[in-house]
Amino acid sequence: MEHAILIKYAEIHLKGLNRPFFEKKLVTNIRHALGEIPGEIVREQGRVFVYAIPEASIEEAALRLTRVFGIHSLCITRCVEKDWETIVENAGALMAPYAGGATFKVFARRADKRFPMTSIQLSQEIGGRLAEAHPGVEVDVHHPEYTVYVEVRDLSAYVHGPAEPGAGGLPTGVGGRAMVLLSGGIDSPVAAYMMAKRGVEVEAVHFFSYPYTSQLAKDKVIELARLVTKYSGRMTVNVVSFTEIQEAIRDNCPEEFFTLIMRRFMMEIAQRIAKGDGCGALITGENLGQVASQTMEAMTVTGAVVDIPIFMPLVGMDKKDIISIAREIGTLDTSILPYEDCCTVFTPKHPKTKPTLGQVVNAEKKLDREALIARALENVEKIKVTYHDEPLL
Ligand code: ATP
Ligand code: MG
Repeated sequence: MEHAILIKYAEIHLKGLNRPFFEKKLVTNIRHALGEIPGEIVREQGRVFVYAIPEASIEEAALRLTRVFGIHSLCITRCVEKDWETIVENAGALMAPYAGGATFKVFARRADKRFPMTSIQLSQEIGGRLAEAHPGVEVDVHHPEYTVYVEVRDLSAYVHGPAEPGAGGLPTGVGGRAMVLLSGGIDSPVAAYMMAKRGVEVEAVHFFSYPYTSQLAKDKVIELARLVTKYSGRMTVNVVSFTEIQEAIRDNCPEEFFTLIMRRFMMEIAQRIAKGDGCGALITGENLGQVASQTMEAMTVTGAVVDIPIFMPLVGMDKKDIISIAREIGTLDTSILPYEDCCTVFTPKHPKTKPTLGQVVNAEKKLDREALIARALENVEKIKVTYHDEPLL
């Protein structure tokens, strides 16, 4: 008897003609998540199966797949011959841990219409045989403590227990590609995760201001990117040196506009890298009203340098809810390490909260924006990360 992983997918079936495209992406992402674990991935009548996984790795493989977006639920299943006695015997083996006493039901489905019993007959007859074989167990079709699932399909019959929930969302990549502005904070890794969950392939850009910010601050961001790739597959982090721009702003612009001007540079540079790398949108961790640079007026001013969409999936959330997602996805502990971000260097004492575009453009006028941006783009360090890399911190 062989084991396989049975995968039911989420919203994919809604997508009509796009379905093969969605399914192919899902299969690619499953392959990627399995990493070095071998397995034969087969798409079959609205399900995906992974066969031929070495027995010792099957639990780990299933765990990895619980993080793949687009999967509604999954379980390890027995693949058995489509023979009545074999099916009953395997269903019985699943019941063994409950032999001491439990309520159960059998939920059977006959997808292969050539099989001589209907779904209802299968459920009833298997249930009867199991109750007979295990005197302690009792059928309860309404509130069973355990359910045995039997599915008779074209290739084989599948016998398994309850499925585990998958990550939901859409397969990463079906929603296009976008570039997240990744800081070392709590918010932007969560923003990246949320867009990846909607099927977006995520690349990242990080601005760092050596020596005002340390190598540790940069490592922290690479590590955060690695943690996000647990869900998103892989990522390239573009590290941009921001020191010259921040010093130029400090030396040439009114202090109350420092943060806004800095953020306009970040957005514009991010957009240029994004376009060069085939990204159709930017992602930020902005959250309305959280800090002075996250008012509507400030967002208008920073958004004005960009002509592609800026996705802000956290914009209307409460901080506590953002923190609980960060904890759930495993980025929180790294985000709260105390290494400073370049945003905190040169922070104005009284930042402008209701700026107009005219005021900011005027405040920037001594800067040669184009030359500063061109120089920053000359030395972009591209770091590829995947979850299978060694942790950096
Ligand atoms: P976060 O927790 O993501 O750092 P924040 O609440 O600290 O967010 P800000 O510091 O105002 O907010 O930054 C707003 C957004 O700008 C961030 O969510 C991130 O997308 C982007 N950002 C800030 N600093 C950097 C940086 N050094 N490199 C890249 N992006 C940055
Ligand atoms: Mg921050």
